[in-house]
Amino acid sequence: KHFPLQTGFLDNLLTRKKQVVRAVDDVSFHICKGEVLGLAGESGCGKTTTGRLILRLLEPTSGEVDYQGRSIFDYGVEEMRQMREKLQIIFQDPNASLSPRMSVGYAISHPLMIHNLCQNAAERKERTIAIMEKVGLNPAQFFYRKYPHQISGGQRQRAVIARALIMNPELVVADEPIAMADVSVRATLLELMVHLKEEFDLTYLFITHDLATAKYICNRIAIMYLGKIVEMGPYHDVFSEALHPYTKALLAAVPVPDPQFRRKEPIPKDEIPDAINPPSGCRFHPRCSYRLKRCSEEEPALKDHGNNHFAACWLYDS
Ligand code: SF4
Repeated sequence: KHFPLQTGFLDNLLTRKKQVVRAVDDVSFHICKGEVLGLAGESGCGKTTTGRLILRLLEPTSGEVDYQGRSIFDYGVEEMRQMREKLQIIFQDPNASLSPRMSVGYAISHPLMIHNLCQNAAERKERTIAIMEKVGLNPAQFFYRKYPHQISGGQRQRAVIARALIMNPELVVADEPIAMADVSVRATLLELMVHLKEEFDLTYLFITHDLATAKYICNRIAIMYLGKIVEMGPYHDVFSEALHPYTKALLAAVPVPDPQFRRKEPIPKDEIPDAINPPSGCRFHPRCSYRLKRCSEEEPALKDHGNNHFAACWLYDS
C-alpha cells in the first residue's frame, strides 16, 4: 500500500497572550492508505494544530506535508480545491460546526454546492439523503428538514460525519469526534466510524486524549507531549509495552472496570509545564519519575527501538 500522506519536520509557532508558543515542534509521521493513525496526548499538546496543518487550514512555520508524493504547499488554487475534496475534517464540537440557520440536510449538502459536484438540486438532495442514511440519520427525509437545535447531540455528530463523507474523501482528520457526545452514545458513534471506514475505504488521523478510545480504533498511535511526538508505533506494541514514561503514565490513567484494581503507576499530578517556556532537555523531565541527570540538559531524539516502535527517551540510549 502506498503512503498517501507524510509530514516532515513540521513546526508551527502560535502567538498566545502576546508570547510565541511552538505548538508543533519537529513533527514527522506518515499515514498509510486504509490505516487509522491515532494522535494522542493531553490538551494543549499540539495534536489539533497538527491535524489542521496537514489539511492546510493552518500554514506551518517550517516543514512539509506531502500528499500523493507532492508538497501541498506547492499546490495552486485549483489543485487545493481538488485536494480539499479528498482530505476532510470532523470537528470536535458539532454545535459550533453546524450553523443554527441551516437545516441539517442543507448543511450536509453544502460542500457539494461549494465544489459544484452535482448537476442539479435533485441530484444533490439524492446524495445527501443517501449519506444521511449511511450515518444512521433515519428517516433521512425527516432529519433533512430539521435544524441543529431540534436534534440530539449524537444526531448532530452524525450530521457532521455525513458532511465530511459526502465528498468521498480519502483521508479524514477526526478531531476528538466523540468527545462532546453523551457517554451513552459514544460507543455507538465509534462503531459507526469503524463501519464507515470499511465501507468507504477511508484513512483516519484520529485525534484523541482518550487512550481507551484510541485502543479500540487505531492501527498505530503517536503520543504527543508539549508539541513533540515522544512515542509512536503499532498500537498493540505501544499499549502492551509502552517505552516512554509519559505513555506509561497515560495508560495507567485509563479507567479499569474493576473496583479491586489498584494503580501501580499513577499519572504525575503536577501541572503541565508552560508551552511558552518549555523545560530544557526532555520536556517531560519535571514530571518524570525515571529521570536521569542528562534528561534536563539534553533532548532525546525519536529513535526506532524495533518493529517501527519509536520513542524519545534517554532510558533506551545504549
Ligand atoms: Fe524521563 Fe529522561 Fe526519558 Fe524524559 S528522557 S522521559 S525525563 S527518563
